Amino acid sequence: MRNVILISLILLLLGCSRTPQSESVDLYVFGTMVTITTWGAPSEARQQAIAEINQTFQQMHRDWHAWEPGRLVEINRAIAAGEEITVPADIAGLITRSQRLYTQSEGLFNPAIGGLLNLWGFQSSERPNGPPPSREEIDRWVASAPHMDQLEIANGQLRSSNTAVQLDFGAFAKGVAVDEAIAILRRYGIENAIVNGGGDLRAIGSKGDKPWRVGIRHPQGEGVLAALDVSGDESVFTSGNYERYREHEGVRYPHILDPRNGMPVEGVTSVTVLHANGGIADAAATALVVAGVTGWQRIAARMGIEAVMLVDDAGTVYMTPGMQQRIEFTAIPPANIITAEPMAANQGELE
Ligand code: AMP
Ligand code: MG
Repeated sequence: MRNVILISLILLLLGCSRTPQSESVDLYVFGTMVTITTWGAPSEARQQAIAEINQTFQQMHRDWHAWEPGRLVEINRAIAAGEEITVPADIAGLITRSQRLYTQSEGLFNPAIGGLLNLWGFQSSERPNGPPPSREEIDRWVASAPHMDQLEIANGQLRSSNTAVQLDFGAFAKGVAVDEAIAILRRYGIENAIVNGGGDLRAIGSKGDKPWRVGIRHPQGEGVLAALDVSGDESVFTSGNYERYREHEGVRYPHILDPRNGMPVEGVTSVTVLHANGGIADAAATALVVAGVTGWQRIAARMGIEAVMLVDDAGTVYMTPGMQQRIEFTAIPPANIITAEPMAANQGELE
């Protein structure tokens, strides 16, 4: 009998060692590395979930790409031709969710700006070079005023009242994809995990008896600006105006564009947002870069974002108390940190 107990115990221990507590896998998708880390997950469920996530990501990449041939490109072609087109449920979902976020952000998050992104050369896997588009071209785009409310979906059919609308979900898709990966992990019973796409992530559960610890990229160059603990269910998204840019005669034109004047945003280096939902965090981080030092509090309040950190070009850090409580800086002198509440939501309402 004692031997049976001993053998059972050994088998149990062997079983445990076959399920290491923390495991990571890298998937290459959306032109970036996505790392999926799980804690204490049974290996079969984990492998199945990762295979399904990989397949889902590849499909999103094909279907949601703004310039490589696929469903979104077909949709954009139909809009430009003034035609109605059938939209699959996933893209209809992206559109309707974006419409809400467009309104909440006072139009600063505007995935209808594909035409402008193309004009600036940002719809390319290469870094654009050469002179920026002319003022006339930019003004023509601004005058055509494409926006999300010009789209209407009825019975799965999409119609646009403006042929200048061109959809590009570059500011939103990664967040939605991270949410989908978390949903898949949960369907397989995995409750402790991080899905991390190049520093933008959603974390659920914890790392055993400790919270997950994550870093926020330094806006200028390599390294980590700050660290924070996350547990439960939370997303951390950073939009950096340093990440992609066009360069001509020593001038950099960064990739986040202000739909109001058609120009790259200046003055803001990065914005980090904490929110439960990855899609909302992603859209909000981009919108708050456009909102800038004078507008971020109003837009954050309207979008329901409580934890924000904005770093401006001078290296000054603005943040909400909700962020300050959470974050530990590794590279910022305290003199450069300004804490400010988001404005009450009604202060930001349009007339
Ligand atoms: P993110 O890294 O999430 O801030 O997304 C940046 C990408 O979003 C850019 O590379 C563009 O594809 C797109 N984008 C730029 N400006 C805007 C904007 N104002 N609204 C929506 N998408 C934008
Ligand atoms: Mg974004």
